[in-house]
Amino acid sequence: MGLLDFQNRFPDERSCYEYLVGVRFPNGFVCPQCGSSAAGRIQTRALWQCGKCRRQASVTAGTMFHRTRTPLQEWFWAIFLTAKDKRGHSALQLSKDLRIPYHRAWLMMHKIRAAMACRDASYRLDGIVEMDEAYFGAPDTGKRGRSTGRAKALVAVGVTADSRPRFAKMQIVKRLDTRSVRTFADEGIAAGTTVRTDGLSVYRGLVKGGFQHEPTVAPGRTKEDVLYWAHIVISNAKTFIAGTFHGLGDKHIQQYLAEFCYRFNRRHREAELFDRLLLACATAPLLTHDELTA
Ligand SMILES: [Zn+2]
Repeated sequence: MGLLDFQNRFPDERSCYEYLVGVRFPNGFVCPQCGSSAAGRIQTRALWQCGKCRRQASVTAGTMFHRTRTPLQEWFWAIFLTAKDKRGHSALQLSKDLRIPYHRAWLMMHKIRAAMACRDASYRLDGIVEMDEAYFGAPDTGKRGRSTGRAKALVAVGVTADSRPRFAKMQIVKRLDTRSVRTFADEGIAAGTTVRTDGLSVYRGLVKGGFQHEPTVAPGRTKEDVLYWAHIVISNAKTFIAGTFHGLGDKHIQQYLAEFCYRFNRRHREAELFDRLLLACATAPLLTHDELTA
């Protein structure tokens, strides 16, 4: 979809609301209170009113767009531009595109990323998974060691039996230990999955968690062979973060990793990305400003 197609599809607030109505009530309005489907619509306020119990229901209630002062059309543009720009869309760029204050653009981008993370959290990796640790952000100068002062992340990439990549997950962890590995695996990987890792002891708890653990100690196989896709995906994630979000602090790296994974996981569905992302935002739970910046 090009810019003109988008403009034609969503020329005003009304057309955006109509889209949300289809998402919220795909089979027609059903009263959240009494279940009645007899309803009138209060057009001016994007509200529905139940014909039976008079309960009012907002089209945006329960979506990311609820109680937002930002016009829906701006949201839709932000989602469109984010979906369209393969390398990611920065808040700075969005504020210029829409001529809105940077702070507002920043919040919008973070809510969009939160919706991406929320959508991907509902899927688990299965089959064969390559798992590795990665370090993001600039190292502290003057300190030694590759991990000093950098954000630590666990990375998992599902691969096919003939070693093609499928889906990816990334999680920033405070500490790289047995516990963080187990939590990451339990939340993101289906039980019984074959998990390939390097020989670090932090991965030893995977067997106890019900995973088939294959540490890379097989004769004739290097870590590069066994974790081939994990390494490529980590390298691409670093490029993505450095290219688009250059100079931003480490505090929100998780959000950028979530965006990277969301795009990676849908790399074969680029044409559908806008509709998928819009749906993700329309169904994502609300986040407060505090939750976003915590
Ligand atoms: Zn009702």
